[in-house]
Amino acid sequence: MVDWAKGTVQKRIKWTDRLFSLQIEANLKPFTAGQFTRLALQVDGERVARPYSFINSPDESHAEFYFNIVEEGPLSGRLASLNPGDSIEVAQPAHGFFTLPEVPDGKHLWMLATGTALGPYLSFLKTDEPWKRFEKLILVHAVRYADELSYAETISGFAEKHPEQFLFIPFVSREQHEGALEGRIPAAIEAGRLEGRAGIHINATDSQVMLCGNLGMIQDTTEVLNKRGLTKNKRREPGQITTEKYW
Ligand SMILES: Cc1cc2nc3c(=O)[nH]c(=O)nc-3n(C[C@H](O)[C@H](O)[C@H](O)COP(=O)(O)OP(=O)(O)OC[C@H]3O[C@@H](n4cnc5c(N)ncnc54)[C@H](O)[C@@H]3O)c2cc1C
Repeated sequence: MVDWAKGTVQKRIKWTDRLFSLQIEANLKPFTAGQFTRLALQVDGERVARPYSFINSPDESHAEFYFNIVEEGPLSGRLASLNPGDSIEVAQPAHGFFTLPEVPDGKHLWMLATGTALGPYLSFLKTDEPWKRFEKLILVHAVRYADELSYAETISGFAEKHPEQFLFIPFVSREQHEGALEGRIPAAIEAGRLEGRAGIHINATDSQVMLCGNLGMIQDTTEVLNKRGLTKNKRREPGQITTEKYW
């Protein structure tokens, strides 16, 4: 049964006109990094709830969520207009299998995200587990415009702490941005541009690939990876591709 914990907004971060984060104070049950919960607001006397991934690690004191405003979506715009002190409900417990315990061992962990689907990776990169399990961790964040490359400080913190182990590769699709790859993730894998930038090959022996974001990116990237011999990771049939679809 879903339990609704009462939460209070502690802080709202505005990254761009469409991109926000909320830090929430609530008494929540433990979760595994990479999982999501549901956030809810009362709209015209009814509870409107949607799933959101935790950005914070399980041992941080506040809960944090990163989201964009979806035009005509009933919840995201309302979340974006919350202010410190406002109430919000958080579903208990958290759910989801987009977590490191579900990912088989490998040498290299590729974490591919479109837009706000960066969230679960930030959560588990703040824990010890990925750094102990994988030789190289490659975080890939695809956005349309460069100002959507949020959490830059958090990401540079990982790079500073683990300079030999961590790589961050941004993609910006609608403008040129220094240091970013152009275009879409699946095309860049197919053309060898992503691996060229990382200096690391994607193959079924060494790689574990996590994909989080919109269905198009997940489907197209999976297709390209299937051609390289990587298969979907299932509990009964471990593979190399672990996915979470946001929309
Ligand atoms: C497991 C899971 C975890 C999720 N975690 C996050 C998260 O951490 N951050 C986050 O921003 N969103 C996340 N989402 C999406 C989120 O739950 C909402 O769908 C989104 O915030 C829009 O809510 P809404 O009520 O305004 O519109 P909705 O009624 O949910 O959606 C309206 C329409 O917009 C589409 N849509 C949903 N999200 C997006 C998007 N980001 N960009 C473009 N179109 C979209 C939907 O497919 C639908 O057609 C997650 C979804 C799932 C299934």
